[in-house]
Amino acid sequence: MDAVRMHAPSPEQAAIVDAVLDYSRRRMLATDVPLDKPQSEAELNRLVGRTITDAGLGAQRALSVFEHILAPACLTTSHPLYLSFIPTAPTTAAIAFDLVVSASGLYGGSWLEGAGAVHAENEVLSFLAKEFGLPEGAGGVFVQGGTIGNLSALVAAREAAKAKLIAAGAELPQRWKIVCSIEAHSSNKSAAKVMDADVVLVPAGEDGVLRADAVRDALIEHGDAVCAVVATGGSTNFGIVDDISGIAALKDEFDFWLHIDGAYGLTAMLAPEARHIFAGVERADSVIVDPHKWLFAPFDCCALLYREPDAGRRAHTQHAEYLDTLTDTDEFSPSDYSIQLTRRPRGLPMWFSLATYGVDAYRDAIGATLSLTQQIAAEIAARPELKLVRDPQLSVVVFEREGWERAHYDRWSAALLDSQRAFVVPSSHKGRPNTRFAILNPLTTFDDLVGILDTMK
Ligand SMILES: *Cc1c(COP(=O)(O)O)cnc(C)c1O
Repeated sequence: MDAVRMHAPSPEQAAIVDAVLDYSRRRMLATDVPLDKPQSEAELNRLVGRTITDAGLGAQRALSVFEHILAPACLTTSHPLYLSFIPTAPTTAAIAFDLVVSASGLYGGSWLEGAGAVHAENEVLSFLAKEFGLPEGAGGVFVQGGTIGNLSALVAAREAAKAKLIAAGAELPQRWKIVCSIEAHSSNKSAAKVMDADVVLVPAGEDGVLRADAVRDALIEHGDAVCAVVATGGSTNFGIVDDISGIAALKDEFDFWLHIDGAYGLTAMLAPEARHIFAGVERADSVIVDPHKWLFAPFDCCALLYREPDAGRRAHTQHAEYLDTLTDTDEFSPSDYSIQLTRRPRGLPMWFSLATYGVDAYRDAIGATLSLTQQIAAEIAARPELKLVRDPQLSVVVFEREGWERAHYDRWSAALLDSQRAFVVPSSHKGRPNTRFAILNPLTTFDDLVGILDTMK
């Protein structure tokens, strides 16, 4: 028995590390990364066989199964022509540094254990807070994704609302209410479910924008039971931004917690030409943005920011005897700001990338995506067989092919993937089938997109 074989340095270990780094290097620098596509479970069973054995396959065989069978059965979500849902497009520096985060036993939950990593993450969070117009002192934590970010922010909002009512000697509501647009992301509804709160779904305009008047009606109707109002900074389906400045101005009339769900779209604030769309974000009590979407970080990463981080800490600090040394200090511990304890410092890949390339490179890349979106939207509008469902505001273009039923879109989409040309899935709006381009990869070109439109003639 050799209990240390898997941990102690040895020639076997060196060969494993070399093989994995070599694969990663080839993949990170490849110019022709395939789109790939899923396989059925039966097919994978047949191709892969049994990989978990008592004696082990050895790194070479295990890596070969991954490279030749498992990896090709996974879509490359960072492919320039992966245009569905919300893609990802991590920078090379961010991907490479992700390896470093795993290579060192970094723990990102507390200052005591991860001061250097937390310091770097906090510099990124402060940078984002400043971009979003939040005051000095705003801060938070990188969490797994927008779903956890929204939930953590909304729990903090509920705790703040509760404390306010208790301090005023007022009665607590039977059920807490979260006000959001009918077009808000499903994760807000799922957060309400976890919190056992109700969602008040407020109608958006024909253009998809949630406006202040509709929010005012909800605030009047539900009064102190409202623990948060959620405005969306770039809806997932359409990339439409709510009237954040109008909704934020309601704070002059009502006392409520404003949360901005900017998981996909808030990134556009870094582009000077789009900043004005987000006026009002500076009054938010909490905001989220997913760097794993349009801020070019690898999965999985959401920046959760509080205007006053103490509100997050009051809601989320875990107390336990074995944690006393961590919670009895004034040091900044990221775990105190969301509903998770153990965490990898998942903001570090973005920190390294920002530090490496500089902020201007980000502004340029985001700006280029915004103009490409306008360019392809104009092309769609000019084609007689195509129709924009809504004018794009950020980088999502939704459009219909005249005369196509859902089955046409399904066949067309499957053919695009089969030929490994692009991944563009059908979508729908108000019961009518359509399709959409979600663009955020700087390597996506106008000609690529025109080529896809040509397949719809
Ligand atoms: C993607 C998205 C979410 C959910 O984020 P995950 O990282 O997938 O959990 C929430 N809100 C909006 C607006 C989104 O686009």
